Amino acid sequence: MVKNGMNMSTIKNKNKNAILSYINDIVAVSRIDVAEATGLTGASVTQLTTELIRDGYLREIGLSDEVRHKAGRKKILLELNPEYAYVITVNIEPEITSLALVNFQGKALTIKKLKTNKAIAAEEYLNFLILEIKEIINSLSSRNKNKVKAVSVGITGNVDKEKGISIFANGIWNKSVSIKDILEKELNIPVLVENNIKALSLAELLYGIGRKCNSFMVIKWGPGLGSAFITDNKVYEGYNGQTAEIGHVIVDSNGEKCSCGRSGCLETKISYTALRNIMNFNPDTFESDYLNSNLETKKRIDEIISLLARTIVNSGVLFFPKYIILEGSLFSNKIIRNKLIEYCKSFDQEYDENRILFSELYNQEEYIGLAAVFVNKFLY
Ligand SMILES: [Zn+2]
Repeated sequence: MVKNGMNMSTIKNKNKNAILSYINDIVAVSRIDVAEATGLTGASVTQLTTELIRDGYLREIGLSDEVRHKAGRKKILLELNPEYAYVITVNIEPEITSLALVNFQGKALTIKKLKTNKAIAAEEYLNFLILEIKEIINSLSSRNKNKVKAVSVGITGNVDKEKGISIFANGIWNKSVSIKDILEKELNIPVLVENNIKALSLAELLYGIGRKCNSFMVIKWGPGLGSAFITDNKVYEGYNGQTAEIGHVIVDSNGEKCSCGRSGCLETKISYTALRNIMNFNPDTFESDYLNSNLETKKRIDEIISLLARTIVNSGVLFFPKYIILEGSLFSNKIIRNKLIEYCKSFDQEYDENRILFSELYNQEEYIGLAAVFVNKFLY
């Protein structure tokens, strides 16, 4: 960032964005800290933050306890104004679709979970979701209705985020669906569409581990197995926008047909469907279901966790992430998590409990990634 006091609107907007994104990263911060972090002069920061407060993006939240210099002047803290904008998030997964109303700080005000209806056509299901979105908007006061700035949709599989098209949603729809066009036509609000694991990784970057490190791998277990790599503050994208999918690493040359069209992928052994062929379990009680199962079942589950560990360590060889961040309800079980770490360690000592961490965003998984897609588009 260049120190400046020039009155050019593009630079001014860029500097305002730098201030907003920095405050989003740090949560609550003083003007002096903003100046130090962005490289803008104190006078510029004072002028720009005054405008940002006037326009509703920022708000003052009182004094910090930290006493500054000898004068003992306390700093007034600033934060993003949570009421500035709302986004409605729609996370479509093979088993559950979650809808949430989320504020500008990424906090959910309402959450609703529905069973994903795969028996009807994609367009028909989207029309049903449009009614649900309209219900959320109609529940708001007329003043707050105008604050809904976007609908942010997450879906499994390959997504063309520029056009808002779900190209192939593994395990949901086997055809290309223009989600953005269908929703925008009915709702008259901008619609963002992203692969849900890439969205979750962006949330880690904006609200989670990314606040202290910019190289990590995200793995979500349940209902399938999703993953993404973050390097240099960006979610890695391969050819055609596809992300790193360790769930589709082939681990069995004689394996079952996978939802991606190939055979023998890791996901065919580790998805909810695959696990239910081995043991009767509920995602919320997986740990006790595992502990209560017989020796033979435990052995089969352990083999699967070992296979996952091997795939994680092998993938790490390609990207060398500093941390491995685990997401999803199956990883919320400490015994399963510790088992995974032990297997990873057995393949490579460097993969230990300091490097393999459970996500701090676990309780927000249904919406935080899609809120991050919106905030990222807005601020970064
Ligand atoms: Zn596959």
